[in-house]
Amino acid sequence: MTERQVIKLVQPEPVLEGAGVRLKRSIAGRALDYLDPFLLLDHFGSDNPADYLAGFPMHPHRGIETVTYMLAGVVRHEDSLGNAGEIGAGDVQWMTAGRGIMHEEMPRPLDGKNYGFQLWVNLPAKLKMCQPRYQEIPHATIPEARLADGVRALVIAGQLGDVRGPVTDIAADPTYLDITIPPGVVHALPVARGHTAFAYVFEGQGAFGEQAAASTSAIGAPRLVVFGDGDEVVVRAGEGGVRFLLVSGKPLGEPIARYGPFVMNTRQEIMKALEDLRNGTFVQD
Ligand code: MN
Repeated sequence: MTERQVIKLVQPEPVLEGAGVRLKRSIAGRALDYLDPFLLLDHFGSDNPADYLAGFPMHPHRGIETVTYMLAGVVRHEDSLGNAGEIGAGDVQWMTAGRGIMHEEMPRPLDGKNYGFQLWVNLPAKLKMCQPRYQEIPHATIPEARLADGVRALVIAGQLGDVRGPVTDIAADPTYLDITIPPGVVHALPVARGHTAFAYVFEGQGAFGEQAAASTSAIGAPRLVVFGDGDEVVVRAGEGGVRFLLVSGKPLGEPIARYGPFVMNTRQEIMKALEDLRNGTFVQD
């Protein structure tokens, strides 16, 4: 087994997005534009509804998948496919925009809180214009792997040991885990060789890779940790324990042309998306 080492640390940067939502962005920011196949990672979270109530009114997407994972509060959504509903605490929505979707995402507090993540996963050229679809994953259907020394992992996508996540048929072959490690515990997590992998530390502190062997420095939340290649990630939880997303996927190695909510391979395809929006032909049945 080859241990993966930390190759980059990203301090999330504050961003104002949508109609005025305060976010912490770690992929698609100044420090890290693209982590093939991951195009964006936003961490939203506030005890102040003024930071998010304006939400994300009706907007288009093409060529990507958007993955919303809620920790607290809800996001009310509605889209051009006729779906409408709420993504609640612990729920996941894996939306494949394909050739085009229009949707609205409106964060609402529950017990005064609204916390969660949105990840954008790229689609390969051959699937960028596929039929749009949703996978709605209620919290109750997300299995939890109970590992050694009290380590727990919610398996949203991919497989950990014999526990398989409910999200299926995603081109990037992603693994999306929400991992909690008790104070001081050292644990090794398998990650498929050749896949791009990152951890997003959002509670507590942890040390990764060769730092896990020392008992000195740990990375505190919130921080994005990018790994080099290998078969496993070794983590040591800090004094207060650590909770992080561990996400990996197969890199596409294709050119990207990005314009706001559209990510295609060429500038011409971006121009076509804008033209389709203007002509009212963006969303097709
Ligand atoms: Mn959206």
